[in-house]
Amino acid sequence: MSLAQHFQSDSPVISFELFPPKTEKGFKTLEKNVQQLLELNPAFFTCTYGAGGSSQAATLDVVSKVKKMTGLPIASHLTCVGSTVSELVDYLNRAVDVGCDYIVALRGDPPKGEDSFTAVEGGLRYANELVDLIKDKFPSLGIIVAGYPEVHQEAPDAQTDLLNLKRKVDAGADIIVTQLFYDNADYFAFVDQCHDIGIEIPIVPGILPVTNFAQAERIAKLCKARIPDELRDPMLQSDAPEHQFEVGVDHARRQSIELLDRGVPGIHYYVLNKSEAAKALMEGMSMPAGG
Ligand code: FAD
Repeated sequence: MSLAQHFQSDSPVISFELFPPKTEKGFKTLEKNVQQLLELNPAFFTCTYGAGGSSQAATLDVVSKVKKMTGLPIASHLTCVGSTVSELVDYLNRAVDVGCDYIVALRGDPPKGEDSFTAVEGGLRYANELVDLIKDKFPSLGIIVAGYPEVHQEAPDAQTDLLNLKRKVDAGADIIVTQLFYDNADYFAFVDQCHDIGIEIPIVPGILPVTNFAQAERIAKLCKARIPDELRDPMLQSDAPEHQFEVGVDHARRQSIELLDRGVPGIHYYVLNKSEAAKALMEGMSMPAGG
């Protein structure tokens, strides 16, 4: 099924984001958790690229394994960091060879120690250029791009960031998946602003069930996601891991229920290779079948 077709059905499309494990043991755990996540009827999986210093080979390994295990569509994330156009094309060819269906087309972050992003010679400067490349050379691949309800950290202002998002949409993206957020009001305001400038493709909220406060703080710093009082206060009532897990999962469950009630096209869960929190948060929710 094409990426766009998933979103033509009435039921919300559920997807799970994985990352490449660094060890053989991590791969075994990933396989076990993917089996459990399958019980939650996702429409597709995605696997990150380059994040945390992982290799291209590791992403392709996950793409290939998860595709074989699940038979579901799978997306590889891809960034422009450190690659020339011909290296990006080479990666895309290898991704297609191992069964990749969709690409999460990203610019990527500046390498560690650098303040701003600089394209390598013969490389690309922005994600919209990567979308152009994929549409030109790999028209059958579905394309997902990133959107920022709390504004991308390098953008001078929200309106400029939105216009830059529109460039990716105009280049041919099928859907937008948002950066994680903890306050649904930020997502709903973002969707309204996207509609105001003529963005009409599905805008899928990205939700991370945080399982402890230290993790929430680390991720908030990394992604500039604000932690609202209704998550912070109950979480800080106790250091007990079970308490923090429950509060984090409960918050993500309440976010999900409200988003689904208000008719979002789907939810993309940042599951961090774990199934426990995703399973716990979907308990008691009526989840769609397959999307
Ligand atoms: P862009 O859309 O290119 O935007 C980057 C900045 O440039 C923004 O401030 C934007 O406003 C501006 N801009 C964009 N286009 C133009 C233009 N044409 N002219 C002038 N300014 C412009 N990182 C990883 O390393 N690996 C991953 O797997 C990964 N997966 C992600 C998945 C999702 C769903 C999200 C939301 C983020 C992910 N990231 C990942 C993080 C991402 O790489 C960073 O947020 C990065 O800083 C921006 O990438 P982008 O594709 O949004 O960039």
